[in-house]
Amino acid sequence: MILSDFANRFSEDAGIVRLMEDLGHAMADQQAGQQIIAMLGGGNPASIPQVQAVFQRTMQRIVTDSERFARMIGHYGPPQGDKAFITALAESLNRQYGWGISADHIALTAGSQSAFFILFNMLAGEFGDGRRKQILLPVIPEYIGYADVGLCDDLFTARRPLIRTGPDKLFKYHVDFDHLQIANNIGAICLSRPTNPTGNVVSDEELARLDALARAHKVPLIIDHAYGMPFPNIIFTRARPIWNENILLSMSLSKLGLPGMRTGIIVARPEFIRTIGNINGVINLALGNVGPALALDLLACDEMNRLCKTIIQPYYKAKMQRTVALIHSKLAGLNYYIHEPEGAIFLWLWLPDLPISSRELYQRLKVRGVLIIAGEHFFPGLTADWPHKQQCIRLSYAQHDAEVAAGIDIIADELKQLHGQITPASDQQAIGSP
Ligand code: PLP
Repeated sequence: MILSDFANRFSEDAGIVRLMEDLGHAMADQQAGQQIIAMLGGGNPASIPQVQAVFQRTMQRIVTDSERFARMIGHYGPPQGDKAFITALAESLNRQYGWGISADHIALTAGSQSAFFILFNMLAGEFGDGRRKQILLPVIPEYIGYADVGLCDDLFTARRPLIRTGPDKLFKYHVDFDHLQIANNIGAICLSRPTNPTGNVVSDEELARLDALARAHKVPLIIDHAYGMPFPNIIFTRARPIWNENILLSMSLSKLGLPGMRTGIIVARPEFIRTIGNINGVINLALGNVGPALALDLLACDEMNRLCKTIIQPYYKAKMQRTVALIHSKLAGLNYYIHEPEGAIFLWLWLPDLPISSRELYQRLKVRGVLIIAGEHFFPGLTADWPHKQQCIRLSYAQHDAEVAAGIDIIADELKQLHGQITPASDQQAIGSP
């Protein structure tokens, strides 16, 4: 059957679709008894028992209140999203950051992934006056999920970062402001903070410079807080959130441990919010009520901040520290760097001497039951050749410690084999056999 160009845009070739399918198949194989030793690939948040218990209690409270239960399941809400939650969130953001926003500054979306579909196609692509605009990613690598949401080709243009290596085999990407010209064809600037895949938290100073540049060129700045503040606040360094009328801030309930709620949040000036509401209305009629109902309860008793500050953030920080220590001990003797782990739930490993591409490394590790993500997927909009693209991998440390440790053992073993430091077990057998 011949489908439209629109349908063909959503082919299985889209990086994010291939990735989700691959991870989905691996999980299915695991359930069917095939051994997956370590699932370090996906973006699933950890299931933290104390946090789960709070979600469960809160949900039970809502479900046993007949009136709230009926409202949650039996009503279409407005296309901008649940009013009570939006109002409570605006008040909470004003209390914490003094942004002076109202309910007119917030819209919900069906997960923040769909917010990016709306925002990118709203601010870039084809314009009525014949212009064509792009989204500028000022620090690449960047979230793979952005790559395929455009309704026209070449929606992104990206700039290579400056790389600074530091002590303890760490490195950090910085915005290369000397090469960051904002041309007329830039419709918006976007970055995730903390960044998926690297765990980078672009500094307050760099963000202030990006904000000033964006305002000077009258180009909106999109900041993706999927792992950021105020929730889930998976940030291990000093960072301040910013918002003004030129900023579109994207938030999500997912990385709190609620990806099944599919609730995304945009904070932006009312003109943008009205458009997002209109798009929601056309595509979804209304949004799900369950995520907002749960989050409203958590906000009302300040449980949201308590969960993030006292459980979620320390939980990931401790896991990150254990994983970094493990990598240093297992990869000793190899040439590697870890991106400074400043937030999110991933470590980004740079292997400057990797003799194969990161995609081939991914395949070899998959055969051995370890799933990671090849770094080369995370460079949307960077068309120029850059060997660095093939030299990195992303590891999630959200899984159980034993699983993470088993995965790192195998990664270290595979890398040592590739560098001829050890002989593969299969060759040892062959040498020893008659
Ligand atoms: N932004 C970033 C940086 C992410 O890592 C993700 C998911 O992994 C998303 C946005 C989308 O998340 P969701 O649609 O679950 O809100």
